[in-house]
Amino acid sequence: MRVFDKNSNIFKLLSESILQGILVVNEQQEIVASNQRSDELFGYNRDELLGQQLSILIPSAQREKHKNLAEGVYWEDIGIRKMKGRNLSGLHKNGNQIPLQVGLSPFSLYGNKYVLTLIEDLSELKEKDNQIYELNTQLEKKIRLRTQELRDTVAILKREVKRRKEAENKIKDALQRERELNDLKTKFLSLVSHEFKTPLSGILTAATLVGKYNTEEQQEKREKHLKTIIAEVRRLNTILTDFLSIERLEQGKEVYRLSDFSLSKIVNEVIYDANMILKDGQKINYPQNIDDIIINQDERIVALALTNLLHNAIKYSPEDTEIDFRVNISKKKITFHIKDQGIGIPETDQKHIFDRYFRAENVLLTQGTGIGLNIIKAHVENLGGSIYFKSKENKGSVFSVELPLAKT
Ligand code: ADP
Repeated sequence: MRVFDKNSNIFKLLSESILQGILVVNEQQEIVASNQRSDELFGYNRDELLGQQLSILIPSAQREKHKNLAEGVYWEDIGIRKMKGRNLSGLHKNGNQIPLQVGLSPFSLYGNKYVLTLIEDLSELKEKDNQIYELNTQLEKKIRLRTQELRDTVAILKREVKRRKEAENKIKDALQRERELNDLKTKFLSLVSHEFKTPLSGILTAATLVGKYNTEEQQEKREKHLKTIIAEVRRLNTILTDFLSIERLEQGKEVYRLSDFSLSKIVNEVIYDANMILKDGQKINYPQNIDDIIINQDERIVALALTNLLHNAIKYSPEDTEIDFRVNISKKKITFHIKDQGIGIPETDQKHIFDRYFRAENVLLTQGTGIGLNIIKAHVENLGGSIYFKSKENKGSVFSVELPLAKT
């Protein structure tokens, strides 16, 4: 066949100017022509491939597949068709595999059938692909690493922000406490000036008068003034104790001591003291059914609460009224009720009655500091109890204190 003969100038002329490799194979799969590019690609000398089976250029793993393909070539189908298969490769003379893209074009010439094979070396492309893949992998790795680093930094920052917020809150709290303490001190000074003035001048007057009554017959008058002095000193003492209590409560330094004590003893003591400050015609009705009862509670706080409530009942009730003192006791709790027939608390003021320094608008001409109930509430609640009241203006009030009992 002259066209593909050795040194055929026509084939050479046509094929050597092409960048791709060209192989022509006959029906027996014999290479009948190859251009220089093909020879170089597969590592053969010039014309060395001629007469060889095509299979020497196909890696053994792909030979079977290729054979089937070659048998199925549709000879009448003119034009180049791309060979399918993702990883097509050729076999170099040195045994290396070369990634290829292959186009097939069957044709007939002088009654013989041939397949023209156009071969493109994809090594460089594959190499670049690999490099890109490698770069991408590294990039992804870096991104993952950086993302993790960022996450870690964000977490650290979040912790730091939280820590600073907490520190800031602590400082704010301390500042707030400091302010409240200052406030308390200012209030204390102004209260001291007001609240101490009257009892002190009362004491002064009483003491001056006591000095003047020097005969034996004047003993009764002397006693009356001494009583005034005692009552006023007690009042001053209560105010001071209240202020000290606030500070201890604020700083959480209050210590409670539960002990067994006689209920009637403490009630008697409290009423005995309260009797000293009764107004003319006022009367306290003793609670019934409390004899021989021993309760377990903080004796000091029980006394403080009852004293406070009784003093208020006396202070905020007119002369000639009665104050009922009742006690309900069960296995688990004890409830004290102190009921008066006094001025009561205006409805709009009732919700503030336990606020520190709060005084209802109907008592502003009566002496007081507005801290007694606030302190009792704190103590009672610290002991697991509660304090509540019912009141109607100009009719009277009932204050109740409920405390849990460990044992009766
Ligand atoms: P103080 O009596 O020194 O003002 P408290 O804390 O004991 O302070 O009481 C707060 C306020 O509650 C009083 O100022 C008064 O307005 C009201 N209050 C308390 N007890 C009674 C009561 N028995 N009757 C009427 N008002 C009362």
